[in-house]
Amino acid sequence: MYEPFHHVVNNVPQTVLQYERELDRPVIGVMPAYFPLELIEAAGGYPVQLWGNNLPIEKADAYLQSYCCSVARSVLELELRGIAHMVKAYAFTSLCDTLINIRETYRRVFPKPTLVLSIPITRTEKARKNYLSSVIKSAMEGLEDITGNKISSASLNAAAKLYGRTRALQRRFYRLRREAPGLVGNYDFYTVIKAAFFLPAEIYNGLLGDLLHGLLEGVAPENNECPKLLISGMVFDPLAIYPIFDELKVCVVDDDFANGWRSVAKVDLNTENLVDGITDFLFGPAPCCCIYNPDNDRHPYLLDKVRQSGADGVLFWYIKFCEPDAFDRPQLMAYLKDHGIPVTFIDLELSMTNFEAVGTRIGAFCEMLQNASS
Ligand code: SF4
Repeated sequence: MYEPFHHVVNNVPQTVLQYERELDRPVIGVMPAYFPLELIEAAGGYPVQLWGNNLPIEKADAYLQSYCCSVARSVLELELRGIAHMVKAYAFTSLCDTLINIRETYRRVFPKPTLVLSIPITRTEKARKNYLSSVIKSAMEGLEDITGNKISSASLNAAAKLYGRTRALQRRFYRLRREAPGLVGNYDFYTVIKAAFFLPAEIYNGLLGDLLHGLLEGVAPENNECPKLLISGMVFDPLAIYPIFDELKVCVVDDDFANGWRSVAKVDLNTENLVDGITDFLFGPAPCCCIYNPDNDRHPYLLDKVRQSGADGVLFWYIKFCEPDAFDRPQLMAYLKDHGIPVTFIDLELSMTNFEAVGTRIGAFCEMLQNASS
């Protein structure tokens, strides 16, 4: 049932090369986070999302300090080792200082075009829209130059429909996990979400639609009594950790990952008014540590999410050394604790291969949750 998704995630370069040939479209590497893939699709590109990987860092340290996050370092490693040779151009947002600076590195070191959609840091919606109107125009022109195609209203509408469908299917998958804890294993769940980073949306939608159809055929939840966790962090990798969750019979019932729910929650892009549409897309609906939006406070949001998901506790998932995530975490943990929610955190590197210590900590936290509820 999950094999096609595992196959994609275990064979990323082969998958991307295969579809690059079949689609005959330039591969655009999309850096974290929230660059609307719809724009790339509408310009005739093939967007591939780069949220980091598990390569040991060998070459990136020559360009980035070792205290940069392992997401940025491992993505740079791909280009430096020539693994990303099929990527013709890169799309950035200005999500954090690391990404703003790494774009400069790409611009200076590699001959590939880079384009950026800067996310404004302003208090009002009006100021956001003023700023975004010029930024969107230049990002679209950059895409048109790279692909050689004009973005039309028809291509934008079709792209919005396609990716809107992807996220709607993924939201259904999330809902299923919340409503039937244990029905989908944690490793399988995140493999399915991750496969979307590399597959063309049309192919992915077909696979996920079939999977949901099979799951909804009525398999009963297997492990309703499992300890239920909500996880919060930037990226849900390293994927290799989830078999430990499965062995411990822990059910992740929801998450607040930038490449998980924070992206999946985004509704269809409004293409009638693209500036309004992209403003809503970037600033909502789920708040993010990297997006300044005083009207969308993460504290009550996360508390509400815990209550709605039925999670017994929250695991903060810290990828070293993501500053925006680290800055938010102490207050979020304190807030949830003050509201009676058990919390803990683990720190991880994407290149980790030994999860024994992390598994022990997760196991201890879950045991504590089970004791508290019995
Ligand atoms: S993990 Fe954090 S520091 Fe690294 S690129 Fe993402 S937001 Fe920036």
